[in-house]
Parts: sequence; C-alpha cells; structure tokens
Amino acid sequence: MVRPRSDRSRPTPGPRPRGRPLRGRRPGLLRARAGRLRRPGRRPTGAVCAPGCRAKPGHGGGRRSGRDGGARLVSAVARPPWVERALREALQIQRSHALLIAGPSGLGQFELAQALMAAWLCEDHAPGSPACGHCAACHLVGQRSHPDATWLLPAARRVALGWEPVEESSSKAKPSQEIRIDEVRAVLGFAQSTPARGVAKVIGVFPAEAMNTIAANALLKTLEEPGGVLRFAIATEALDELLPTVRSRCQILPLRMPPREEAAAWLEAEGVKDAAALLTLAGGQVLRAQAWASAGWDVSKLHALPRAVAQGDLGAWSAATPAQLIDLLQRLVHDLLAVVAGAPAHYFAGVALPKVRHAAPLQRWAASLREARQRSDHPLQWALWLEALALEGQHALRAACQPINSAA
Ligand SMILES: [Zn+2]
Repeated sequence: MVRPRSDRSRPTPGPRPRGRPLRGRRPGLLRARAGRLRRPGRRPTGAVCAPGCRAKPGHGGGRRSGRDGGARLVSAVARPPWVERALREALQIQRSHALLIAGPSGLGQFELAQALMAAWLCEDHAPGSPACGHCAACHLVGQRSHPDATWLLPAARRVALGWEPVEESSSKAKPSQEIRIDEVRAVLGFAQSTPARGVAKVIGVFPAEAMNTIAANALLKTLEEPGGVLRFAIATEALDELLPTVRSRCQILPLRMPPREEAAAWLEAEGVKDAAALLTLAGGQVLRAQAWASAGWDVSKLHALPRAVAQGDLGAWSAATPAQLIDLLQRLVHDLLAVVAGAPAHYFAGVALPKVRHAAPLQRWAASLREARQRSDHPLQWALWLEALALEGQHALRAACQPINSAA
C-alpha cells in the first residue's frame, strides 16, 4: 500500500498550451504561464469543479466567499500556526499516496488538507515545503480552478463554502450532509483521467465520515491502487467512524489540539473579543470559536443560554442553524450532568448554572438532543422546532432542579 512517489511511473502529461511539453521549471516558463492565466471567476476549459456540482459549465465555481477564497488557499499567512506545523511535518514524513488527517473538530482539518493538496500541485517549491503561492499551479489552486484537483464534500458543505449556488441546491431539498455514491463515482472518473499539468492529481475528502458505507466502498479500490500521480488528502473529525478498510489504506496524520495560549492568541489576532472565554465555551475548538464570533455570538450571548433555557425562550437563537443550537444545548447538558456528579463545568465554566440536583431528567434531555441532532438536517418548521427545544429544555431543568426529596 505504501507507495513512495519516486517509485511510481509518471504518465504522459496531457495537452500543453501551444502544444509545448513541460521540460523543466524554468522561471521564465512559469511566468509566461502565469501571464496567460484566466481572470478569477472564469474556469478554464476542462477545469474540475466540486464533485456533484450542478451549476452550468463556466459558472466559475459559484460565489467565492469564506476562508477558502482566493490566494488564501495557498497562503501561509492565513493558516493557524498549529496547522502550519502539521503541514510541514506531514510534508516531511509523508510516505503514502493517501494521507488521513484526523483530530478533534474545529482545529483546521479542511485547511490542512487544502494546504497539502496545494503543496502536491505546486510547480515551483522545494521538496518537503509548502506550496510557493506564486507559481501558475498555485494561482489555479487559489482560484479553485486547477484541472488536477477535486474535492469530495457533502452538498451542504459546498453550499456553506460558497462553492455551489444556494438557489440551485435548495430548489428541491435541503443540501445533503452526506457524501453520496454518485459524487464518489464522479470523482472516480476524474481519477482515471490523464493529469493536465503532469505534476500530480489530487483528491480532497472532507469530512471522510460523511461517506456512507456504499460510498466509502466505492472509493476503496482507487484508494488502494491509485493510478499514476494520484494522491488523496482525506480529513476526518471522527476517525472511529471510518471503515477500517479506509483507515488501513491511508497514512494517518494526527492534528492535535494547540496549546490554549497559542489558540487564544491566534483568535485575538483574528479580531475575536474575549478569546479565552470563547475558547472555553468551544471546548478548545478554535475554528468553531472563530465561527461563533463571525456569526456575532459573543461571550455574553453564549453565557445567557442557560438562563434562556430556564425561561423557555430561545428566540434570541432563531438565526442559528438547528445543528448549531443543538450543539450548544448539548454542551450545556454535558456541564449540568457534570455539576450533578460534583464535577466542575467544562464549557460554561464560571457561568451561574441552574442548581440541578437530579441526573435522570438531564439524561433524558441529552438522549432527546442526540436524536434531534440526527434529524437536524430536515427541520420542516424551524420556528416550531425552536419552541419545542426551548420547552423541552425548560421542563428538563425544572425537573432536575426539584428538591432532593421530590420525585425526579
Ligand atoms: Zn507554487
């Protein structure tokens, strides 16, 4: 399975601009190519869009927003320091055609996979170094129009990233949170095509646990025996949920939680207020804390959640997605159960929590939230659902706060 790059035969490169083969890495050649790059927003002929994209040809990949926009794809400036460290380490120790980035959610698995793919495609960097950010290939990666790169992402993730127009995805049903078999098949077709620039062909997968069993099995053979210069950057936030057959075909690259001081300092540098407190609420998941801040959720709003639940009024959270709100409620239940057991709160540390005495109502609430999370992709009436969540939480808290002699 281990397949050093040097052992693999290089396939014949695809058609070159003006029919000229790539003979070397002369700076002049690269500059000339960079000069012929198309304007941002226009895909070159043959460019591979996100798998499953149903937009019209030449749509330019939809809106370009979010953290992945433009040159930030290949820019070290935008990468958190712990992602940068993991990237450099990965480029030094990589020995497989498929790297599996694994770690707690909210640390930057997606960003690391992007940076790895950019490094593999870069045409002007030292071996073992990140992408240069300046060559023609890096420009194409930055515009998300490199013909030798593609992604396996759930439709919901593509919409959230602005890679797929919202209106086309929401016309029939809510975008899926799963990576489906037809999307894997589209990527397998990409895998079998001749590389356009000859350096590498790369497939990013995130989150890998979003592949159902059928989709994962469809990918297995290509993952085990990739053709030519094909490489995989697979990222997961739930390594245990992956098929053992997928895990065994990859070199696992752990992405570890950064030191708390480093994470808080990075958040502050990104303009996040009360970074340390927000980081505590996020359980150390730095990018989640950053996303909360971007959504306008400051510490005071988050600290007011226990009181809002006790009052049965979650109206202030109507702009949150069901998954976001359920995630917050699950953090609250976790802490309340810890308090009942005599342990300190983990997420809502230092916040005045209701004086809970009974675990059973909280455990029932936690089970209900787990079930609700499974259905959170398909809330028919979010306003009604929000009200139901608030009432359920209020009842659970009341029961949990009953005096000890009362029945729980
Ligand atoms: Zn480059």
